[in-house]
Amino acid sequence: MSQIEPLIDNFGRRVSYVRISVTDRCDFRCVYCMAEDMTFLPKSQILSLEEIATLARNLVACGVDKIRLTGGEPLVRPGVVDLVRSIRSLPGLRELCMTTNGGRLQDLARPLREAGLDRINISLDSLDAERFRELTRTGRLGQVLAGIDAAQAAGFQRTKLNAVILRGRNDDEILPLVEFALDRGLDLSFIEEMPLGVITEHSRAEAFVSSAEIREIIGRRHSLTAIADDTGGPARYYSVAGHSSRLGFISPHSHNFCGDCNRVRVTTEGRLLLCLGNEHSMDLRAVLREGDPTPAATDTRIQAALRDAMALKPERHHFNLEEEPQILRFMSATGG
Ligand code: SAM
Ligand code: SF4
Repeated sequence: MSQIEPLIDNFGRRVSYVRISVTDRCDFRCVYCMAEDMTFLPKSQILSLEEIATLARNLVACGVDKIRLTGGEPLVRPGVVDLVRSIRSLPGLRELCMTTNGGRLQDLARPLREAGLDRINISLDSLDAERFRELTRTGRLGQVLAGIDAAQAAGFQRTKLNAVILRGRNDDEILPLVEFALDRGLDLSFIEEMPLGVITEHSRAEAFVSSAEIREIIGRRHSLTAIADDTGGPARYYSVAGHSSRLGFISPHSHNFCGDCNRVRVTTEGRLLLCLGNEHSMDLRAVLREGDPTPAATDTRIQAALRDAMALKPERHHFNLEEEPQILRFMSATGG
C-alpha cells in the first residue's frame, strides 16, 4: 500500500493517535462508567477482529503512528492477543498500547507482551478490597493487583495506573494510590470524571474532584515538577522528586486541551468519533461492509472516508457537569 497524505483537520491538527474500542462488554461495572444492568450490542453490530485490523492498517497508512486498544474491557474479547500481533506488525506504527482493568492480566500479560504490545494502562481506583468491590460492583482487587505484578514480570515498561477519584467514595485514597505507584515504579494518572452516559449511583457534580485539588493534596507530601508535555492529550505530567514515576492529571473540565488534540476514537460499532465530547462521527462500519469487498477497494474506500472525516472534527468539547449529560453514550462503548 502506498503512503498517502497524513490526516489533518480543518484546524490544522494532525491526527496521529487513535483509540479503538474492541468490545463494549466488560467483566466489571464501575459506578462512573456503566449502569448496573447494561445492555450490550448484538454481535452483528460490532466490528469483527478482521474489520478492526483492516481499519488499523488503513489508519497507519494515513500516518497514524500510535494506537490504543480499549473498551469496554479489551481482554474479554476472544482473539485479542492475535489482534495485537496483527496490528503490531504494521510498518509505520510506533506504539501499540492497551487500557485494561487488569483483571485478566495474570494470564494474558505474557502472551500480550510476546505478541508485541508496547505498553499497558491499568485502572485502579482503590486499594481497599471492599471498596474496590463497591466501585467496580463485580471486580476483585486481589486479581487486579496480581495482574499488575504479572505486567511488570512480563517486562512491560512505563506501565501506568489510571484512577478516577470521587468525593466521598475514594478521595481519601489519593495519597495511598500515589505511594503504591511510587513504590512499584509505576506511573499514575488521575482522571476527572466525565459526564458520559446516564448513571444513577451518584451525582457527577457532587462527586467531582478537580485535578487541581488532587495535585494540591499530593503536593503537601511530594515535590512535583511539571514535565514538558508533547502527548497532545488532556494529561499534564509531573515528576516526583526522588522517584522514577510520573504523575498525570487528566482534566477535561478544568483544562482546555482541545487546541493540540491529535486523537480520534473508533467505537465498538465502527463509528469514527472525532471528539470525545461531541457526537461528530463517521460510520466506518458501513464503509467497510458496503461496496466491493476486495482488500484494495476496501482500503481505497476507507482512506477516502478517513480524509473526509477530518472536516468533521470539531474545534473543542463543551463538557458541563451542571447539566444533564449531552453525550448519552457510555465510556465503555466510546473507547475510554
Ligand atoms: N476497561 C478498561 C479500563 O477500565 O481500564 C478500559 C476501558 S475504560 C472505559 C478506560 C478508562 O476510562 C478507565 O481508566 C476508566 O476509569 C475511565 N472512565 C470510564 N468512565 C469514565 C467517566 N465517566 N469519566 C472519566 N473516566 C472514565
Ligand atoms: Fe469496565 Fe473499564 Fe468501564 Fe470499569 S471503567 S466498567 S473496567 S470498561
